[in-house]
Amino acid sequence: MGNSSAHRWEHYYTPETVAEAVDLLQRYDGQARVVGGGTDLLVEIRRGLHRPVDALVDASRIAGLNTIEEDGDNIVIGCGVTHSQIIRDSRIIKYGTCLSESCGVIGGPQVRNVGTLAGNVAHALPAGDGTIGLLALGGEIEIASVDGTRWIPMQESFKGPGKSFINRHREVLTRLRFRRTGTREGSAHHRVMRPQGLCLPIISMAVRVQLHDNNTIKKARISMGPVGPVPFLAESAMEVLVGAKVSAGQFNKAAEAALASVTLRSSKYRASTEYREQMVRTYLPAILARAVEQAMGVSP
Ligand SMILES: Cc1cc2nc3c(=O)[nH]c(=O)nc-3n(C[C@H](O)[C@H](O)[C@H](O)COP(=O)(O)OP(=O)(O)OC[C@H]3O[C@@H](n4cnc5c(N)ncnc54)[C@H](O)[C@@H]3O)c2cc1C
Repeated sequence: MGNSSAHRWEHYYTPETVAEAVDLLQRYDGQARVVGGGTDLLVEIRRGLHRPVDALVDASRIAGLNTIEEDGDNIVIGCGVTHSQIIRDSRIIKYGTCLSESCGVIGGPQVRNVGTLAGNVAHALPAGDGTIGLLALGGEIEIASVDGTRWIPMQESFKGPGKSFINRHREVLTRLRFRRTGTREGSAHHRVMRPQGLCLPIISMAVRVQLHDNNTIKKARISMGPVGPVPFLAESAMEVLVGAKVSAGQFNKAAEAALASVTLRSSKYRASTEYREQMVRTYLPAILARAVEQAMGVSP
């Protein structure tokens, strides 16, 4: 598949094992690129936004990496798993609700049927939807290279807009995992974007909360984007919540703390700073309330 003039690559490989994939990348010595569903990369290559590559190495067909598995308390997602698979998975709907919700708003069905969560994370956009969902859950990623495999917290992979510490010419993001939400835990995601649908989000946010039996907040994680060069963990807002009693007033305080820790940009085509701020004030408390309802067993 592929020819250099129309597609700007010479060879397209579909390795069946991780070892085969990293060997191919090694053989091309920086002149090959990993591809998943291709919904970002192939569009960008065709538009001339990437330097031409000699080869594409497709990570989405590696045997055993197109399934969602449980490993103890973790849910493990292979790099070939598409957004459509994630949103249909009953375990992720229940135990990783914000991930299911965030993958559910990506593109349309055609994009979700081929686009992968691994590609979303490896692309490293500040507001990739699946990325924001998985970040709130405390997601980790496994990276394979000729030197072996290692797991890292996903936030350590983000270098800048579209820039990843994963060397996408030499390494493969093979699996993603998160600890499933358990007793008195819940999560939720919300994205605001212009109604045309296909443009970039105005703001995307996800939360994971855990409650003590007396309804004070034991743990909280809040992810947001785009609020800077990389997907953002709103630590100061998380601190406002931990130890506090669940209340609408406390959720509002968390939203203010989140706003105080970021600089929201005004963009002519997307939204003004003031509008974005208003969206955080409206929807961050709303998703906190939804996650808390789930933690209390009020919603599924
Ligand atoms: C019409 C349209 C609408 C879209 N809407 C949204 C949206 O609403 N929200 C959103 O977040 N995104 C959206 N996207 C972007 C895209 O579909 C997603 O980011 C998708 O998850 C990318 O996954 P992929 O498998 O197609 O990645 P690819 O395009 O294959 O790759 C993306 C990047 O990741 C690297 N990569 C891929 N897999 C691996 C791997 N296993 N290991 C190492 N590197 C890897 C590639 O080298 C490339 O740099 C949209 C795209 C289109 C075309």
